[in-house]
Amino acid sequence: MRDETRTTLTLEVGESEVAYQLVRSPRRKRTIAFAVDTGPMLVVRAPARTPAREIEEMMVRHMGWILRHLADMRTLDASRPTRDYVTGEEIPYLGDPMPLHVVPVLGMDAECRRRNDHFELRLPIAASDERARQLGEEAVADWFRNHADQKFAERVDVWKRKLNVEPGRVIVTDPKTRWGSCDAKNNIRLSWRILFAPLEIVDYIVAHELCHVVHRNHGPRFWRKLEKVMPDCLERRDRLREIGHSLTL
Ligand SMILES: [Zn+2]
Repeated sequence: MRDETRTTLTLEVGESEVAYQLVRSPRRKRTIAFAVDTGPMLVVRAPARTPAREIEEMMVRHMGWILRHLADMRTLDASRPTRDYVTGEEIPYLGDPMPLHVVPVLGMDAECRRRNDHFELRLPIAASDERARQLGEEAVADWFRNHADQKFAERVDVWKRKLNVEPGRVIVTDPKTRWGSCDAKNNIRLSWRILFAPLEIVDYIVAHELCHVVHRNHGPRFWRKLEKVMPDCLERRDRLREIGHSLTL
């Protein structure tokens, strides 16, 4: 991600405007790529020196694709659960919906703890609804982030033995668009948000990134190695594609 620049721009298309984030990266060779992120937001990736005109021409040429994916993401965004962080709501943990029990407390701090079969969320009694919602989301996210350290270490341990690979560090991250990655030093980065998904999906992401320790790309040898220890890896990958948009607070 070093030396990347991000700028928010707009392109006029007929009567309307399409906003987009332009990500320029010196490591990128010739290609320009499009992706639609939640929001919805169009993300355009381009090499550091490609002229703006060339990027805009490419966008115009792919406007059908862009508008279709923006509309799809708008629908997905609308179907995403929005929580108020009140008793009776549920937060998924490893695919299991866990009820939320809100306990009003004195003071200004919020905290989330996992009890046997539910999350206990302690929220300041004096907080307004909007503030309580915000504190609730932060406290639950904190719980997941902290818990992720231990859970990911456990799953990496299981799968590195099966795959017979030795990764570098395991780092908990919070990207909106990537569930995991493996860098040149074989450090594995995993988003704490994947803990909303069932364990078989978490394991798929963990094993997938561990496979990159030996195979950098997604060639046949990569899939063969993964399939050997996880015969249904492609089904899990497809399942992740289906549920990915819902892995959010
Ligand atoms: Zn990969």
